[in-house]
Amino acid sequence: MLYFDYCASAPIYPKVNKLMYDISNKIYANPSSMHHLGDEANKLVEESRRKIADILQVNASEIIFTSGATESNNLAISGVIRALELTNDKPIHIITSQIEHSSVFTCLKELEKRGIIVTYLPVDANGIVRLEDIEESIQDNTAMVSVMHVNNETGSIQPVEEIGKVLKRNNKILFHVDGVQGFGKIPIKLDDIDLFTISGHKIGGPKGVGILMVKEDIEIFPIIYGGEQEFGVRSGTLNVPGIIGIAEAIQINNIKLEQKFNSLVAVHNLLYSELNKIPDIVLNSPNLPLGAPHIINFSYPPTTSAIFLKVLSDHGIVASSQSACSASKNKPSRVLMAMNKNKLIASSSIRISFDENIGTFEANLLIEGVTKTVGEISKIKSHI
Ligand code: PMP
Repeated sequence: MLYFDYCASAPIYPKVNKLMYDISNKIYANPSSMHHLGDEANKLVEESRRKIADILQVNASEIIFTSGATESNNLAISGVIRALELTNDKPIHIITSQIEHSSVFTCLKELEKRGIIVTYLPVDANGIVRLEDIEESIQDNTAMVSVMHVNNETGSIQPVEEIGKVLKRNNKILFHVDGVQGFGKIPIKLDDIDLFTISGHKIGGPKGVGILMVKEDIEIFPIIYGGEQEFGVRSGTLNVPGIIGIAEAIQINNIKLEQKFNSLVAVHNLLYSELNKIPDIVLNSPNLPLGAPHIINFSYPPTTSAIFLKVLSDHGIVASSQSACSASKNKPSRVLMAMNKNKLIASSSIRISFDENIGTFEANLLIEGVTKTVGEISKIKSHI
């Protein structure tokens, strides 16, 4: 089986795996315990925090470890809003886009039920939010903007550094970026970003660990209550092997960012032009540089995503349609509908995602598999 579903979860780097295995065996104490074994575990956690902070160019006290990006996104949004609600008697306004991951989208839908006002901005045909729309949506009571870096279905890159600059002119508005799909692939500066989300298992690290970077002067309330670990913001025993694993994965990604980017671009260019030549295939992802180099989304409108994926897997290729986290997998894609694609296209999308393990050899096998899948489905259709 050839794996083309790296955006759902990427294989763990062997070095990270080994490190976590060794740490799990040797350092099992609770880092919050007062004895010297606890201190030892705590030292490793703090070293990891420092390592990550240095790479992100933020302070170590601005790194909060969580159970993954779903929690980080919920904490970023609900945690900040809870803190603001204490001092604000007017309704709070948040700006986001129509294409956010479900962990942002659904969290905001829940907040709306509590009286928070949310503007869901449309995107253009490339799946990109317009800077002017953000500026025009700002109201007196706007407290936060949450826009992802790279869209998980199409790879569309959002102008987050530019949005950050615009928002910094109004220092009352906090800016949260879900960086899950861009981090480790596309360089990003966090200077004008107040809260930033990372997930371990999308970058060669472990599942069940994530990061929320929260700039120091931001008031954020916990959404989980307990032992007040992580500066009182995130209770729960720290996942020591996971934290060490995500720190190592971030370091590996950081060291080979440029080399990785070039390898992704080469495979992307090949796939993008070859997929485009296959009859009835419609490419939904924007091409480089508007799209990320590790995600290509296309539709084959004669059939549904589910049928296409089944036939494709019979040819030894694993891919996906919408986000693995989407509860509405059988519905037309919310992201593609926001890009003004018709229902047929939005119901037949396929997401190919990869990392630097995939070279031109595997890319050619994918093209062969897609070509055969299209050939078989169109043959069946012509007999109906
Ligand atoms: N945000 C984006 C853009 C994602 O793609 C995902 C994972 N599909 C998440 C958040 C949630 O990540 P996790 O699996 O770490 O909860």
